[in-house]
Amino acid sequence: MRRVTVFGATGSVGQSALDLIARAPDDYDVVALTGGRNIAQLAKDAVVLNADVAVTCHGELHNDLKELLAGSGIEVASGDSAIDEVASRPADWALSAIVGAAGLIPGLKALEQGQTLALANKESLVTAGPLLMETAAAHGATILPVDSEHSAVFQALVGEDIAAVERIIITASGGAFRDWSLDDLAGATLAQASTHPNWDMGQRITVDSASMFNKGMELIETKEFFGIDPAKIEVLVHRESLIHALVGFTDGALMAHVGPPDMRHAIGYALHWPARGHVPVERLNLANIGSLSFEHPDPVRFPALRLAADVMEIGGLAGAVFNAAKERALDLFIDGRIGFLDMARIVEMTINKMSANDGLQNAQFSLDNVMHIDALSRIRADEAVAKLG
Ligand code: NDP
Ligand code: MG
Repeated sequence: MRRVTVFGATGSVGQSALDLIARAPDDYDVVALTGGRNIAQLAKDAVVLNADVAVTCHGELHNDLKELLAGSGIEVASGDSAIDEVASRPADWALSAIVGAAGLIPGLKALEQGQTLALANKESLVTAGPLLMETAAAHGATILPVDSEHSAVFQALVGEDIAAVERIIITASGGAFRDWSLDDLAGATLAQASTHPNWDMGQRITVDSASMFNKGMELIETKEFFGIDPAKIEVLVHRESLIHALVGFTDGALMAHVGPPDMRHAIGYALHWPARGHVPVERLNLANIGSLSFEHPDPVRFPALRLAADVMEIGGLAGAVFNAAKERALDLFIDGRIGFLDMARIVEMTINKMSANDGLQNAQFSLDNVMHIDALSRIRADEAVAKLG
């Protein structure tokens, strides 16, 4: 029996993971499930999976969660510090599926215990990639990618020498607005940005897909996870979302990973790794699919990719600025306070301001520095709103 913990269990990725775990209850001993507002789902899953402890990050929901779990024998905890505490409990495998930089500390704590961390939370790699990788190395822990593109690259690299990699191509569906004009993008609403042509995901990553900030984050994630020169990483728009990534080698071979747009594939790979288990995703019928398309992303309508390239060029803690400014800009768009295209403007202004004044390149990669830069970037992003004009 493997002891498993799921952070962000009530979210889109978390629920897909619980679906896989629930299909083989005898294989898993569920240590902790964590969630946020959706305590009804959290309590239900904690009972079904017989978790030791259920945690909501919201202290004010503690008593409600306690009531929902009364008589179950399941421990209840709440608040960010409670999530950090359960991350330190013994487990073999943990899924990091909290959305946002809030996923960073629980991920670090799990790595400090030497756990295998299945990482969906790309924000932590973008914010503090070197810190995560160093923590894993120092404690003999393993990080497995769960983002579909990175799982695809990881799988294409099994048995290969990273030195023989010439290029990595991650694909993008192009999101809700792939065919929209710049004028139309300026007036795009939250409801329009919250639909995705191929994937069913949480709202924040869906909007990030529409702006292609998600793909920008994934460029940085690729660099941090695989330690690859950014010049070797490309993005191609692939509308069908069936090829998730391709790895090109020095002999000209391109290894593609093909699968349905279902996160249970990437989660299942990380859950069963290094073996391959049975994963109940759709089996593709390639003859029915017929053809696949590829095109270059448009850098004018989707500046997020250029900004991500700038961030990789600056290096150091610039990723923390990028992620925090993007998170703040997304909050403001969701709240209806800025337009869709303003998100990229705010991120760019914040990067410019922070890289001019705050010595991002030379700052040490300590957790304190990362948290400081994250907080400061959110303030700078708010200041940028006033200058939008
Ligand atoms: P969701 O919004 O669906 O779920 C997020 C989860 O985190 C929920 O359990 C939520 O609780 C919880 N949560 C929210 N805020 C906090 C917080 N401050 N502290 C602790 N927990 C919190 O997101 P997704 O499942 O879509 O995405 C999760 C992560 O996986 C993200 O990093 C995303 O980029 C990444 N990812 C997602 C993919 C997908 O297909 N959805 C694909 C690839 C990567 P509650 O809902 O109860 O409030
Ligand atoms: Mg992805």
